[in-house]
Amino acid sequence: MKRIATRFILSGIMLSALTVLFQHCSDPETKIRAEADAIHAAALTLDTHCDLPMLMHSRPDFDLAEAHDPHTSGSKVDFPRIKKGGMDAMFFAVYLGQGPRTPEGYADAKRRALELFDIVHGIANDHPDIAGLATTPEDAVALKRAGKFSVFTAVENGWAIGKDLSLLETYYELGARYMTLCHTSNNDICDSSTDSVEHGGLSPFGIDVVREMNRLGMIVDVSHISDDAFWDCIEYSAAPIVATHSSARALYDHPRNLSDEMISALAQKGGVVQMNMLSGYLKDRNPERAEALQALRAKYPRGVELTEEQRAERAAALKEIDERYPEELATLQQVVDHIDHIVKLVGVDHVGIGPDLDGGGGVEGMFDVSEMGNITYELVKRGYSEDDIKKIWSGNFFRVMKEAQRVAAEWSS
Ligand SMILES: [Zn+2]
Repeated sequence: MKRIATRFILSGIMLSALTVLFQHCSDPETKIRAEADAIHAAALTLDTHCDLPMLMHSRPDFDLAEAHDPHTSGSKVDFPRIKKGGMDAMFFAVYLGQGPRTPEGYADAKRRALELFDIVHGIANDHPDIAGLATTPEDAVALKRAGKFSVFTAVENGWAIGKDLSLLETYYELGARYMTLCHTSNNDICDSSTDSVEHGGLSPFGIDVVREMNRLGMIVDVSHISDDAFWDCIEYSAAPIVATHSSARALYDHPRNLSDEMISALAQKGGVVQMNMLSGYLKDRNPERAEALQALRAKYPRGVELTEEQRAERAAALKEIDERYPEELATLQQVVDHIDHIVKLVGVDHVGIGPDLDGGGGVEGMFDVSEMGNITYELVKRGYSEDDIKKIWSGNFFRVMKEAQRVAAEWSS
């Protein structure tokens, strides 16, 4: 009797467990989340543009091993959150705000670039159990297999080389595998998309820079450069070119985004556009907030070293702006609309992810690196296949890296 009762109770428990399980699996939202989680874990997830080194440069006591609150700390990337976001690899920018184009300015740029290379190398070398330095897709695959995170290096703003072509090789040797030719102002290489016309595209020196980058196997990044400079890169680069953090101008008309004509030409050349997640490039900004931020930026230009006192002043001013004119963020859905647009235009082989975290990037639903999985979720929800999602995460960008190496090998033979 007792045994029958026990059996009865047990089967009752099993039945209710099965019912819960069934309800769980049949919930479409849960099913999509489970599928997205599996794809996210299987893919080699790569972010091609992160400004963490700039943050670390201005905050020498920043602890990468500690999880930070993105809303109160102003930081969007650290190792615990990289893990939570399921990220396998990121390109960290040796970023320089544009400074004087004088011999002193160039010397200063080089000094600061070398300091930032040290910071990037430290991200891996100071945490050898978590991360390793990578310069090739094969490195990233091997590191993922070993359960480690890949630290790739890039240069943002060719001002870092001044007028010295030989510095490209120096930076390549230090691991840089792409260089963004300029930032928000013109430099000696080319015009910026957010400055007035000076060279009318690439300068003669800029053409030499592109050729030297091709010879080395360093990828030309067209994010930030003017449309004329973009078309010159299409003409002069022997290897595919990339936009490591830009979106589609057809969906939001901003000079930092690429027109359909530009995206088509870049795709035809075998390149890839990596989606930026900076709200100002995705939707209209509150004009009062934009004005206040611009004034603050003029007072404390990005990438310029500040004293402790200036840093505190800047942080207080930023807090006041945030309180007075809260930022209205773009959404992850808007970002994925840009992916849809590019896929419709040129196919799935020419789009990727470059959110610009710690450089102003981060949208509603993908605010910091811990939320990267939401990108995969949104792609699965919109019907992208596992193969397509893997291409978007790294397959496309890695294809360009390999092609740049092939062009370089051919150049020297
Ligand atoms: Zn940038």
